[in-house]
Amino acid sequence: MDSEVQKVVKETLLNLHKKGVLATPNEYRKEFCKVSKKFNLSVDECELFKELVEKLSKDEQLNIDEKEINSFEDIIPILLNRVSKDNINALAELFQQSIKPSISIDIDEDLKKFSVKIGNSPALIFEDDIQKEMQEFIIKRFEADKKVVKQKTSEIAKLLTLMGQYFNDAIKSSGDGSKEVSDIKSQIQSMDMESPSIKALTELQSKLIDAAKSIEEEMNSVEKKLSTGKSEVESLELQVKKLQEELEKTREESIRDHLTGVLTRKAYEESVKKIENNFIRNNTQYAVVFFDIDHFKKINDTFGHDAGDVVLSTFGKVLEKNTREVDVVGRYGGEEFVAIVHFNLKRELLKYLKRIKAIIQENNFLYKNNKIHITFSAGVSIRNSYNSYESTLQKADMLLYQAKEDGRNKIILEDGTII
Ligand code: GH3
Ligand code: MG
Ligand code: MG
Repeated sequence: MDSEVQKVVKETLLNLHKKGVLATPNEYRKEFCKVSKKFNLSVDECELFKELVEKLSKDEQLNIDEKEINSFEDIIPILLNRVSKDNINALAELFQQSIKPSISIDIDEDLKKFSVKIGNSPALIFEDDIQKEMQEFIIKRFEADKKVVKQKTSEIAKLLTLMGQYFNDAIKSSGDGSKEVSDIKSQIQSMDMESPSIKALTELQSKLIDAAKSIEEEMNSVEKKLSTGKSEVESLELQVKKLQEELEKTREESIRDHLTGVLTRKAYEESVKKIENNFIRNNTQYAVVFFDIDHFKKINDTFGHDAGDVVLSTFGKVLEKNTREVDVVGRYGGEEFVAIVHFNLKRELLKYLKRIKAIIQENNFLYKNNKIHITFSAGVSIRNSYNSYESTLQKADMLLYQAKEDGRNKIILEDGTII
């Protein structure tokens, strides 16, 4: 071994001499370490330098390599590039701040310990292991916060869904429905917003509960009002119904002539307006028939006014019964009636007129054992032959007058037909 060292010493001195470098302690040590490497000789002092360099950062090591630094003194300028202690302290503090508890508090205990460690020796932040740990903390903090935010968001959504349901049920509910509403309120109440606590969310929860409570109170009072108001409404409804029935009866009475049951003159004229409109639009042809009972005065005089009433009433019913829904019959005056009869072919009109005549001719009116036989006269005109309903009516009246003149018990049509 000794001879190995001697060989190294010899070559070191020779090398220094060759290079023309003085064998100062530093130059000697550098050359000695170089040569000892060549001889595969392990020398503690040389190893010490290597170990120190390995402890430095990668950049510093690279720098040392490039500048072919192999003495402790030459490392000093490189080390001087390192951040000053003050800066390290500031940096360490910043890091501590950045990983301080934010939303999630799950990892706070570990963080505290780590933070204390860095606080004690800020320079640690330059160490690879510590930097790795720092990175892990940042990721952990981020993940933990994300989880809490996600959870809280879903809680808000749940709250809103419950509230929506609450309003729905509150609006729909009457009486027993309010139980469901209360159930939802307790669901909102029981949602765990406390841990970890976010103040705004807990406030929101309590506001929702308050809103739910006041809705419930309002519903209860409305319900009470409704139930007392209900009976009043019911009795009012009954009254309205009665009034409606009476009104309908009165209307019916004003439309129908009380003695004969046919339309009053006023109602008849209303019907004529509709029929006339229909004629103008669709040319629905109709005839106007003017009826007048013959010598009616004589009936009154012979059998009494009441007998006359019975005859009138029965005559009206005969007309009414034999007139179709589309047609109308009205009482025009005392013992005068007028009918509007729609028809397509003349024989249909004739058939109607003949039927009325036959009924009156073949039957007697009965009053207190008195068989009363009557006849009537009529004038018939057709709307198509005239410019207006009025002219048609006038013509029918004229033809009636003619029938009377010609001896009564006749129906005269405008074309000269006599029934
Ligand atoms: P004509 O053949 O020319 O028609 O003779 P008439 O007697 O039928 O005609 P007139 O007009 O002279 O008489 C009609 C009578 O009808 C007079 C009136 O007292 C009677 N009369 C009108 N309305 C009623 C009523 O509601 N009841 C009763 N019983 N008679 C009435
Ligand atoms: Mg008459
Ligand atoms: Mg008359």
